[in-house]
Parts: sequence; structure tokens; C-alpha cells
Amino acid sequence: YDDRDGKIWMDGKLVEWRDAKVHLLTHGLHYASSVFEGERAYNGKIFRSMDHSVRLRKSAEYIDFEIPFTVEEIETAKYETMKANGLTDAYVRAIAWRGAGPDMGVASARNPVRLAIAAWEWGNYYGDAKYKGAKLDISKWKRPSPETIPCFAKAAGLYMICTMSKHAAEAKGCSDAMMFDYRGYVAEATGANLFFVKDGEVHTPLPDCFLNGLTRQTVITMLGEKGIKVHERHINVEELEGFEQCWLTGTAAEVTPVGQIGAYNFEVGALARDISESYEKLVRV
Ligand code: PMP
Repeated sequence: YDDRDGKIWMDGKLVEWRDAKVHLLTHGLHYASSVFEGERAYNGKIFRSMDHSVRLRKSAEYIDFEIPFTVEEIETAKYETMKANGLTDAYVRAIAWRGAGPDMGVASARNPVRLAIAAWEWGNYYGDAKYKGAKLDISKWKRPSPETIPCFAKAAGLYMICTMSKHAAEAKGCSDAMMFDYRGYVAEATGANLFFVKDGEVHTPLPDCFLNGLTRQTVITMLGEKGIKVHERHINVEELEGFEQCWLTGTAAEVTPVGQIGAYNFEVGALARDISESYEKLVRV
């Protein structure tokens, strides 16, 4: 994990993988002042690379700091990192955080903002669930209201309940957990968005208090091109009974069919498979 060969880009230069360390008094570690991106490269090209770099800078703005690198510099750095590690098909993790410095309390205005980029090979996020259909638990934690946290940032603090939910799910033999939002509407999984199929039409939760994933947006466009109607709306738990198919979307998850959410079952149907395959083709163009 940390003690291996390879390079990691840190604050403008490539360092040895095993030397890519931060100080214990890093503000981000204590107070979650950290934002990140998860990206995938296929055949040497990062899918929607620029959109990820823009979102990274935007996430930092949402939590009140500015990344001291432009989108163009971040783009160059990501490709430099891949090249230094000899990768063409990779998962790329960019992370920005408030570092260690003179301020070691809640306030941290004088501490430097840091940026790092790592890349490694990462296969199917849900293993063979990608073909069999993932099994999802239902989390006891709810996506918070926009009044309690900047919910559209891809920020570390929003993942505390995701990690807890995913661990609880894995302890029950599930791949992931579905989370409700603060109002009780179906929201998303711990690192992926949700879609449902009923009577040939698609229904997906309105992302009004959680991340509107780039993969989600790509899939909605793809469905439109296929002439399939998409309803972005609030979805109640009772409706899960009537949905026939379900899938997850995310950069890491790609398009993964879902077979089960709690006691609700779905078939790994034709549309779920079709969208999963179409996405695979699209990212490799
Ligand atoms: N929701 C959460 C909580 C996530 O972590 C992710 C992964 N970034 C997504 C949704 C999907 O976003 P994307 O398709 O942009 O990867």
C-alpha cells in the first residue's frame, strides 16, 4: 500500500510513492478540510477528465478554500502521474486539503492548501456483482440536508457516514448500501448514483442534496439518445416494490446492475445490461 515503487504527484512535483507523506498535524486529517476526485482512464485517456478537474476546484470552493493550481495544471499533472507509473488504464485519485501550518485549531487560514495526485490499477469496483447484480443493504444513515453541510462538494466529511454504511453492508454480505436522504426519499449508494426501470421508462432520484455524478449525467444523455424516457424526481421507498430493474452509476462503479436492495429484488434485465455495455464502449472511444 504505502511501501511500494511508483510515483505520486505532490504540490507540483513527482515524489516516490513511499515518500508521499503528510504531517500528523495536517488540518484535513483533524477537521475534514479535504476534497477529492475519483477518475478512470481508459486506453490512456481519462474519461471526462476536464469535468473532474473543474469539479475538484468547485468542491474546494464549496468548503471555502482555493486550490493553488489551475484546471489546466491539474490536467497536466494527472497525465504526468499516469505516465510516471506506466499506466494507460487506471483509477486516478486527486486530493486537495488544508495542510499543517501555524493554525492547529478549527480555523486554518494561514495553513497551505495542498494538492496531490495518485494513480493505480483498479478493476471492477463491485467485483463479479457487475455481472450477477449487486446486493445492497439499506443504511441507517441519511444523506444530510443542504442546510447542514455543502452537500454538492465531493468532500471527505460527507464520506464519514458512507464508510460506516458500507462497513455495515459488507458485514451482512452486501456490496454496498442504499441511503435515504434527510426527508426519507431514496438518494444514492455510498459512492454511486441509482437508477430504476419500470414499464420501459427510467426513474432516478433528483440530486438535490447529493452528488449529481458525472456518470449519472452521461447515462441520462445515453438513455435520451436511445429514446428512453428518464424521470428525475423524488422517489419513495414504497416504490422500490414496483421497479423491475436497478443499476448504479459512478466512475469507480461504472454501470453496475443491482439485484437486491434490502428485501426488494430486481432482475438483471436487458436495459441494465445494455446501458452497462454501452457505457463500456463509450469510455473507450
Ligand atoms: N455519489 C457519491 C457519494 C460518490 O462518491 C460518487 C463517486 N464520485 C458518485 C455519486 C458518482 O459520481 P461520478 O459518476 O461523478 O463518479
